[in-house]
This record gives sequence, C-alpha cells and structure tokens, in this order.
Amino acid sequence: MTTSTSPPTADALPVPWRDESVMGFGMSVGGPAKVFRPQSVEEVAAAFGDVRRQGASLALRGAGCSYGDASTNRNGHVLDLTGMNSILSFDPATGVAECEPGVTVRDLWKRSIAHGYWPRVVSGTMQVSMGGAAAMNIHGKNNYRLGAFGEGVRSFELMTPKGELVRCSREQNADLFHAAIGGFGMLGCFTKLEIETKRVHSGRLRVWGIVAKDLDHNFEILEDLHGEADYLVSWVDLHATGASLGRGLMHRADQMKPGEDPDGLRFYDPALQDVPSTILGLVPKGWLWPGMWCAVKFGQVGLVNWLKFQAGFREERQSPYLQTHGAFHFLLDYVPRWQWMTKPGGLIQFQPFVPKAEGPQVLRRLIEICQRDGHVPYLGVLKKHKPDPFLMTHALDGYSMAMDICVSKNTSKRDSLWRTCREMADVVLDAGGRFYYAKDAVLMESSFSRLHGGDAVAQFRALKQRWDPEGMFQTDLSRRMGV
Ligand SMILES: Cc1cc2nc3c(=O)[nH]c(=O)nc-3n(C[C@H](O)[C@H](O)[C@H](O)COP(=O)(O)OP(=O)(O)OC[C@H]3O[C@@H](n4cnc5c(N)ncnc54)[C@H](O)[C@@H]3O)c2cc1C
Repeated sequence: MTTSTSPPTADALPVPWRDESVMGFGMSVGGPAKVFRPQSVEEVAAAFGDVRRQGASLALRGAGCSYGDASTNRNGHVLDLTGMNSILSFDPATGVAECEPGVTVRDLWKRSIAHGYWPRVVSGTMQVSMGGAAAMNIHGKNNYRLGAFGEGVRSFELMTPKGELVRCSREQNADLFHAAIGGFGMLGCFTKLEIETKRVHSGRLRVWGIVAKDLDHNFEILEDLHGEADYLVSWVDLHATGASLGRGLMHRADQMKPGEDPDGLRFYDPALQDVPSTILGLVPKGWLWPGMWCAVKFGQVGLVNWLKFQAGFREERQSPYLQTHGAFHFLLDYVPRWQWMTKPGGLIQFQPFVPKAEGPQVLRRLIEICQRDGHVPYLGVLKKHKPDPFLMTHALDGYSMAMDICVSKNTSKRDSLWRTCREMADVVLDAGGRFYYAKDAVLMESSFSRLHGGDAVAQFRALKQRWDPEGMFQTDLSRRMGV
C-alpha cells in the first residue's frame, strides 16, 4: 500500500545553492558541488523541484561521515540535511524517539540517557546523523547480537523526487522500507524517522581488555565470548608479521543488570557521558592531531601500534573496569579532527565482510597483501556480524575488518593503493564476501552484482525506476558502482 502527501507550496520557494567543496570524511575523494541546507520539509521539496527543473543530479548528505564518496556529488547538487536536527518527541515509557534526519547519534543519546535509555546501535563516532545511519544501515560493536541500525527503526517518512512523502514501516510499503534502509540515499530522502532505543540499568558498562596474541586468537575470543558479551571489538596491529600477524587487543563490554551498579545511575547525567575535551584537564585534545601527523609523516606508525599493543597487557591486568557508554563507544571522538593527521593525501577505509568459515584465511591473506605492497593500514578493527533483512545489506554471518590506509598525494602511489585494494576486493568477493559503502572508495561497477547478488540488484533497480525514474538521486559512489 502506498500513501503519500505533498507538502504545501513546495515548488514556490527560492533555493539559495552555494558553491562549496564537498569531500568524504577521509578527504581523499569528492569535489565541487552546489550545496543547500534545508531547515524544513518544505525546503527539501523546493530543492527537489529546483533540481528536477534543471535536469541535474542530487546527493543527499547527513554529517558527511562516510569515509569515501557516498555523499559527494562532483559538479552536481548536494542537499545537506544537518539543519533539520530536532528530536520531535521522545517517549520515556518506551524509549522511542521521533527524529528529523539531521539529529545526530550524540543528540539522541543525550536525550535518551537522561531517561535510562541508550541507542541500540551506534557508530564509532557520535557525529553521524539519523538519515545517514539509516541510509547506510550502520552497525555497532554489538552487530552480532542486536543487528544493524535499521532493525531499531520502526517507521520513516521518505520524500520522493516529486516532493511526495511516503510513509514506510514493516507493515506499510514494506519493500521500500527494507530497500531505503541501507539504500545509500538512492530512493528518497528520510524526513522523519521513528527510532527505538534500549533500556540500560546504569550509565556505565563493565569493560575488559583482552590481549590477542595473533589473528587466530582474535577469532577464538570472538567465538568464545559472543554468546555472553554485549559488545565485542578488537583493535588489530596490522604492522605485526610472522607469528604475531593479526595480534591485537579485544574489548568486551557488558551492560549492567538492574541494581548491579547503583553508583552508575548518576551517569545518566548527559554531561558525565561526553568524551572530555582536554587531556588531564589541561591540554586541548584539538592539539593532538599534529603529533599524530608527525608519526605518519616520519614513518612511526608501526612503532605506535607496537606501543599500543604493549599497553594492552596493562589494561588486561586492570580488567574489568567501569566505563561510561560514551567513553566506550566513541573512542574515535577523543581526538577531534584526527583524520587531519593523514593530510595532505587523506585516507580511505576498506571494510570487507567475510563469511565465518572463510574469515580467518581471507583476512590473513588481506593483511599479507597490504604488507607485501607497502600499504599497511595504520588502524585495523575486527568485528563479528550477523545477517539482516535489508535488501542491500552488507552484513553476513561472519567478520569484518575495517582497515584505515593513508593516501599519498603522489599519483603513482595512489594508483598503486587502488590496485592493491582492488586485488583485495577480488579475494573477498571470490569468498562470497561483501563491502560496506560507507567505507568504500575503490570498488568498481563490476562488483555491484557480485556483492549483492543478481536478484537483489534487479529488485533494487526496479524500486529505483519506480520511485526515482529520472535518476535524480546520484552520488559519486552510485555512478562509480553503475547504480
Ligand atoms: C570516525 C568514524 C567512525 C565510524 N564508525 C562506524 C561504525 O562503527 N559502524 C558503522 O556502521 N559506520 C561507521 N562509520 C561510518 C558512518 O556511520 C556512516 O558513514 C554513516 O552513514 C554516516 O552518516 P552521516 O550522517 O555522516 O551520512 P553521510 O556520510 O553524509 O551520508 C551517508 C549516506 O546516507 C545518505 N543520506 C544521508 N542523509 C540522508 C537522508 N536524510 N535520506 C536519505 N539518505 C541520506 C547519503 O546519500 C549517503 O549515501 C564511521 C565513520 C567515522 C567517520
């Protein structure tokens, strides 16, 4: 069933597009675009009308946290939804929030924690918007347990290129519901989302650091603990070779049971959850990235990884310890603008998802390929996953390894990195693996069907033809993948 409404006077409003440079979070892909930041549903409709009249293309953009080109549109138009950032309602009895698309993960937990709720699924940064989280169907450190972000979305309103609002849920327009979540902004613009949060019984988690001596040990820990742990994530030292290849530090975190941590109730205060803005109360953390830049510039990333691994033994001895939800989840927000350490070339992230049986062997092979070609990621993060019911899903019963790699300004080094990543992509796709578009900049058109399967691609294209027949929604990613 399709029900739609049009916002009034949508086409009549003037649209002040501005020329800006719009880049991915990794600063290595993107380009000039005409940008508009709507404040209301009417302004979204006006922007759509304007772009359609011009016969131009439009990328939808949230907080711009996708590492690659998922929300960039070189020489096209970009609708930046960060200005539509109101939490329209929050029900303290159920923990369900009704949000505009620009509400961030931070906005949501700030509202929910005061009532004893935490978002079901959060990313490694709290800057991500609800629209971007739904469009990419983001996953957290609990993906193997609670599934993806979309599984906590009850319903949403999607604006089509004609300016109509279509309500979608598991009962209403279910095909569009399951395709727009994870549909990377190709089918319409989320203008309102109804999102579940989960009850927590303390403002803190109980956390363990567990040293993994090599890659196989990392998998062993994931398999041993996934039945009982609420969150599992491993930092992996991708510089280690030989018997230590794939060593790392696993973090396990468990929620508190009712009454288990009475003192933790005071951490329902949102001010006590936020990551601190200074180190030791003195040094502004915004000053840290130049030091990290020096480590990259002077080839000391391997040493930094070694030091971090050694520090893991101390953390293991001190475990378990208590940590606020914010401090556990948003490690990457501790150092503002950390990505600047990769200037001037920026970075890409490459996150393959590999089926459980092939995971250990395939991820070992990828590490070896990176090391062979001299493109060793400065950061590796290993997670466990489970499948979800969304059409363009990237999840599966298996593992993912997020690999952050510096990009050189030198064209031949950059080309060499892209060649290495494409070789790795073939290894992954041959093993029945998948990729996550929020973390991609290198896949080619030929990967699209291999990644999703022919049936899913045909269904997605049919929905695109139905809801966006003129192909207005485009991004650099969608053109690269031949969507
Ligand atoms: C430091 C860091 C850590 C991260 N950690 C994780 C992690 O742990 N797990 C994870 O899954 N991801 C992670 N990510 C990736 C991030 O969660 C995704 O890229 C997410 O989609 C970003 O949301 P955004 O609001 O920035 O959207 P953008 O990056 O701006 O856009 C993402 C996609 O959403 C579409 N879109 C945006 N708004 C709308 C809308 N209103 N309607 C329809 N489509 C829309 C865009 O067209 C684009 O395809 C991380 C990113 C960073 C920078």
